[in-house]
Amino acid sequence: MTNQTWNAVDNYIVANLIADDPVLDGVLARNAEEGLPAIDVSPAQGKLLNLLVRMAGAKRVLEIGTLGAYSTIWMARALPAGGRAVTLEFSPHHAEVARANIESAGLGDVIEVRVGAALDTLPGLAADGAGPFDFIFIDADKPNNPGYIDWALKLSRPGTVIVCDNVIRNGVVVDEGSTDANVRGARAAFEILGRDPRVAATSMQTVGSKGYDGFILAVVG
Ligand code: SAM
Repeated sequence: MTNQTWNAVDNYIVANLIADDPVLDGVLARNAEEGLPAIDVSPAQGKLLNLLVRMAGAKRVLEIGTLGAYSTIWMARALPAGGRAVTLEFSPHHAEVARANIESAGLGDVIEVRVGAALDTLPGLAADGAGPFDFIFIDADKPNNPGYIDWALKLSRPGTVIVCDNVIRNGVVVDEGSTDANVRGARAAFEILGRDPRVAATSMQTVGSKGYDGFILAVVG
């Protein structure tokens, strides 16, 4: 199979299962105009996050790694009335673009963007009593996955769903000698979640318009 096939199948999935969405198209267009890298989740992955938030019955969502809030908007749209999402972003420029996108999506009252290195802003979030969260999406700088998972568990309750993205990395995750910090961060996510007795987890390899990667799906027991 080639990337061309993966793209064609992703297009087929979108054409059949994902409605035209001028708001999300506008988000991607603004991201491009503002020079943000196109490393948001794909439409099919965004819809998956939306469905998972719904299936979890989540009312409070935490995201680590906002970019332009494409995934945030997908998740926030799944929240019931009164639901809230908090998303953490290091780059002030990404956060500014995200806020504009969130306003365009009519979700300014639902989503809060906190700016700063997530390992610096997470303690404040906890101190503010923002947790426990029902659904946590980890999608920031991969070398810090261990710290993010630690915080995700602190901010969880039994039943919290945790998704950790980009952990397959073209299959290089199996290279135990890798010195790539992103690969080491991916492997750490498997090791930490795999050995924690409070957590049940699996991982899915994915192909599509974003290439060959995958995510860990976990529930805190
Ligand atoms: N979740 C987004 C989506 O699918 O639309 C994509 C997020 S992108 C893969 C990763 C984001 O994490 C970037 O915007 C990057 O600036 C941000 N980031 C990198 N290091 C970070 C840190 N230490 N704390 C918080 N965010 C960070």
